[in-house]
Amino acid sequence: MQVAARWPRTRYFDPMATAHIAPNAERTSPGRGKKKTLVRRAVPDSSQKIRHAVQFMFVVLNAWLGLQFYLWVRYFEQGGRGLYLPRPAGVEGWLPIAGLMNAKFFLMTGHVPLIHPAAMFLFAAFVLMSFLLKKAFCSWLCPVGTLSEYLGKLGHRAFGRNFRLPRQVDGTLRALKYLLLGFFVFVIGTMSAEALDGFMETPYGLMADVKMLNFFREIGLTAAIVIGLLMLGSMLVQNFWCRYLCPYGALLGLVSLLSPIKIRRDAEACIDCGTCAHACPAGLPVDKLVQIRSAECTGCMVCVAACSSENALQFSLVPRRADVVKERWTRRVVGPLAVAGMLAYIFLGLVLYARATNHWQTKMSKEIYMHLVPRANQLAHPGM
Ligand code: SF4
Ligand code: SF4
Repeated sequence: MQVAARWPRTRYFDPMATAHIAPNAERTSPGRGKKKTLVRRAVPDSSQKIRHAVQFMFVVLNAWLGLQFYLWVRYFEQGGRGLYLPRPAGVEGWLPIAGLMNAKFFLMTGHVPLIHPAAMFLFAAFVLMSFLLKKAFCSWLCPVGTLSEYLGKLGHRAFGRNFRLPRQVDGTLRALKYLLLGFFVFVIGTMSAEALDGFMETPYGLMADVKMLNFFREIGLTAAIVIGLLMLGSMLVQNFWCRYLCPYGALLGLVSLLSPIKIRRDAEACIDCGTCAHACPAGLPVDKLVQIRSAECTGCMVCVAACSSENALQFSLVPRRADVVKERWTRRVVGPLAVAGMLAYIFLGLVLYARATNHWQTKMSKEIYMHLVPRANQLAHPGM
């Protein structure tokens, strides 16, 4: 998938040097002995502005869902007093295991589950996004990914740089998220449809979202220390949590291997400056490959934004065969607005479909919630 080791950073990854390349200056392709001409891109890249705007909107959406859910929980905790807002089913996006369980239940039975159906629709939306647009969910939508990214920026300011772990350590740690994923897939994979349904209908399954809220509201010292260490890790190493530990990202990364849209490089237009590889938060050797297949690629387009060469690097379908570089990309490039549009289309499409077919909300009476919500912390896992 990926080839050869990188060229020495000190020679080719000096961001100040690349920032001062004169327009259309001639550059020597290191190690290849032939000169290439930099044709600067005519239109400045806007991918990062658009991506950050999408991230911001999704953070706001999640904050709103979180507040609404908190008020809903408080209503029941206070015995039905105070402001009542309907339960926002969108919080089930934070229940990926329920999403996976419900997806399996649906595939086995053809029936949409009654408990946490929104978790399944959101899970399906995020999987579909990864199937089409690499792990764009992680770098464009996921609030944890957004937090990781900004912690990395903060760390860069604080320490003057982000760190990359030695290759072998990095590879070993990256395997952790697949081990975690394997554990969940094994446990869920061995459950029958009846067992899945039975689990969801237990008070514990029904209150999974309330228990998650309570975990953060009443966080213990150990959990706070672990979260603090993970945040520190993300300041030191870009996307620490996503890169090493997130099983959801691992699953989406595996799905993303099928994506027809990838980061692709035109070797003729590329001047081999290495700026893209230096900029890539996933540490991928973008400058050495004609396409990035890696499960680590999040489709963030940071590499595309960093490249100053016209038509050298794109997020695209397979390029056409043509003698002229520009023609190879004709109707093949998926620009940042198109990415944002596709993400919105998939997300809203599945949410609106679930709402229109009356499968969005968990159908549970107020009396049951009145009984269970205040007791959520006392509910033990049915397997214990
Ligand atoms: S694709 Fe990468 S190596 Fe090639 S010109 Fe662009 S930034 Fe430089
Ligand atoms: S290859 Fe490009 S799109 Fe993929 S993770 Fe690296 S910077 Fe982001």
